[in-house]
Amino acid sequence: MNIDSIQNGIVIDHIKAGSAMVLYDLLGLDALDVSVAIIKNVTSRKMGKKDIIKIDADIPVDLDVIGYVDPAATINVIRDGVLVEKKSLSLPKTLTNVLKCKNPRCITSCEQELDHVFRLADEEKKLYRCVYCETKAN
Ligand code: ZN
Repeated sequence: MNIDSIQNGIVIDHIKAGSAMVLYDLLGLDALDVSVAIIKNVTSRKMGKKDIIKIDADIPVDLDVIGYVDPAATINVIRDGVLVEKKSLSLPKTLTNVLKCKNPRCITSCEQELDHVFRLADEEKKLYRCVYCETKAN
Protein backbone atom coordinates (compact mmCIF):
# COMPACT_ATOMS: atom_id res chain seq x y z
CA MET A 1 0.00 0.00 0.00
CA ASN A 2 1.01 3.58 -0.44
CA ILE A 3 1.58 4.66 3.13
CA ASP A 4 1.12 8.31 2.32
CA SER A 5 -2.37 8.05 0.98
CA ILE A 6 -4.85 5.84 2.72
CA GLN A 7 -8.27 5.85 1.06
CA ASN A 8 -10.27 4.26 3.83
CA GLY A 9 -8.71 3.57 7.14
CA ILE A 10 -7.31 4.81 10.40
CA VAL A 11 -4.15 6.68 11.20
CA ILE A 12 -3.01 6.63 14.80
CA ASP A 13 -0.72 9.63 15.08
CA HIS A 14 1.40 11.26 17.78
CA ILE A 15 2.21 7.96 19.46
CA LYS A 16 5.05 8.28 21.94
CA ALA A 17 8.20 7.03 20.17
CA GLY A 18 8.73 3.37 20.97
CA SER A 19 5.08 2.62 21.77
CA ALA A 20 3.87 1.63 18.32
CA MET A 21 4.83 -2.04 18.68
CA VAL A 22 3.17 -2.30 22.10
CA LEU A 23 0.03 -0.84 20.59
CA TYR A 24 0.26 -3.15 17.58
CA ASP A 25 0.36 -6.18 19.91
CA LEU A 26 -2.37 -5.02 22.30
CA LEU A 27 -4.71 -4.10 19.45
CA GLY A 28 -4.17 -7.55 17.94
CA LEU A 29 -3.33 -6.06 14.56
CA ASP A 30 -1.11 -9.01 13.67
CA ALA A 31 -4.19 -11.25 13.67
CA LEU A 32 -6.02 -9.12 11.11
CA ASP A 33 -5.86 -9.57 7.38
CA VAL A 34 -5.35 -5.89 6.64
CA SER A 35 -2.40 -3.74 5.62
CA VAL A 36 -0.77 -2.04 8.56
CA ALA A 37 2.19 0.33 8.37
CA ILE A 38 4.20 1.15 11.43
CA ILE A 39 6.37 4.20 11.07
CA LYS A 40 8.80 4.62 13.92
CA ASN A 41 10.82 7.58 15.10
CA VAL A 42 9.30 10.17 12.82
CA THR A 43 10.63 13.63 13.51
CA SER A 44 7.85 15.76 14.97
CA ARG A 45 8.07 19.46 15.65
CA LYS A 46 5.81 19.05 18.67
CA MET A 47 7.22 15.88 20.17
CA GLY A 48 10.76 15.41 18.92
CA LYS A 49 10.17 11.82 17.85
CA LYS A 50 6.90 10.00 17.41
CA ASP A 51 5.49 6.78 16.01
CA ILE A 52 2.58 6.47 13.60
CA ILE A 53 0.40 3.45 12.77
CA LYS A 54 -1.58 3.42 9.53
CA ILE A 55 -4.30 0.84 9.10
CA ASP A 56 -5.50 0.53 5.53
CA ALA A 57 -9.00 -0.62 6.43
CA ASP A 58 -11.97 0.91 8.19
CA ILE A 59 -11.96 -1.46 11.14
CA PRO A 60 -13.11 -0.79 14.69
CA VAL A 61 -10.13 -0.18 16.95
CA ASP A 62 -10.32 -0.34 20.71
CA LEU A 63 -9.96 3.27 21.82
CA ASP A 64 -9.50 2.13 25.42
CA VAL A 65 -6.39 0.21 24.43
CA ILE A 66 -4.94 3.18 22.60
CA GLY A 67 -5.84 5.51 25.48
CA TYR A 68 -4.14 3.14 27.88
CA VAL A 69 -0.91 2.91 25.88
CA ASP A 70 -0.78 6.60 25.04
CA PRO A 71 -3.60 9.00 25.92
CA ALA A 72 -1.80 11.72 23.96
CA ALA A 73 -2.14 9.85 20.67
CA THR A 74 -4.66 11.05 18.09
CA ILE A 75 -6.91 9.00 15.84
CA ASN A 76 -7.63 10.13 12.31
CA VAL A 77 -10.41 8.40 10.42
CA ILE A 78 -10.07 8.60 6.66
CA ARG A 79 -12.84 7.89 4.16
CA ASP A 80 -12.47 8.25 0.41
CA GLY A 81 -9.08 9.86 0.94
CA VAL A 82 -10.52 12.59 3.17
CA LEU A 83 -9.98 13.08 6.88
CA VAL A 84 -13.53 12.79 8.24
CA GLU A 85 -12.94 12.47 11.95
CA LYS A 86 -10.28 13.26 14.51
CA LYS A 87 -10.59 11.60 17.89
CA SER A 88 -8.68 12.45 21.01
CA LEU A 89 -8.21 10.04 23.84
CA SER A 90 -8.05 9.87 27.58
CA LEU A 91 -6.95 7.24 30.06
CA PRO A 92 -9.82 4.76 30.25
CA LYS A 93 -11.46 4.30 33.66
CA THR A 94 -11.59 0.55 33.17
CA LEU A 95 -9.81 -1.92 30.94
CA THR A 96 -11.52 -5.19 30.06
CA ASN A 97 -9.46 -8.08 28.72
CA VAL A 98 -6.47 -5.91 27.86
CA LEU A 99 -4.23 -6.80 30.77
CA LYS A 100 -4.02 -10.05 32.67
CA CYS A 101 -3.86 -10.22 36.45
CA LYS A 102 -0.54 -11.69 37.59
CA ASN A 103 -1.70 -12.74 41.02
CA PRO A 104 -1.82 -16.56 40.97
CA ARG A 105 -4.47 -16.50 43.72
CA CYS A 106 -6.73 -14.08 41.86
CA ILE A 107 -10.14 -15.48 40.94
CA THR A 108 -9.34 -14.78 37.26
CA SER A 109 -6.55 -17.37 37.50
CA CYS A 110 -8.98 -20.20 38.33
CA GLU A 111 -12.14 -18.97 36.61
CA GLN A 112 -10.95 -18.98 33.02
CA GLU A 113 -14.12 -17.50 31.58
CA LEU A 114 -14.06 -14.40 33.79
CA ASP A 115 -13.20 -11.10 32.15
CA HIS A 116 -9.93 -9.56 33.26
CA VAL A 117 -11.01 -6.15 34.45
CA PHE A 118 -8.71 -3.41 35.70
CA ARG A 119 -9.76 -0.02 36.97
CA LEU A 120 -7.80 3.20 36.96
CA ALA A 121 -6.69 3.69 40.56
CA ASP A 122 -4.38 6.67 40.13
CA GLU A 123 -4.65 8.81 37.04
CA GLU A 124 -1.40 10.69 37.61
CA LYS A 125 0.67 7.56 38.07
CA LYS A 126 -1.31 5.76 35.37
CA LEU A 127 -1.88 2.97 37.87
CA TYR A 128 -4.38 0.23 37.21
CA ARG A 129 -5.56 -2.37 39.72
CA CYS A 130 -7.38 -5.66 39.25
CA VAL A 131 -11.03 -5.19 40.31
CA TYR A 132 -11.08 -8.63 41.93
CA CYS A 133 -7.90 -8.68 44.01
CA GLU A 134 -6.51 -5.11 43.81
CA THR A 135 -3.20 -6.32 42.37
CA LYS A 136 -1.39 -3.62 40.41
CA ALA A 137 -1.01 -4.01 36.68
CA ASN A 138 2.65 -4.24 35.60
ZN1 ZN B 1 -6.56 -10.10 40.23
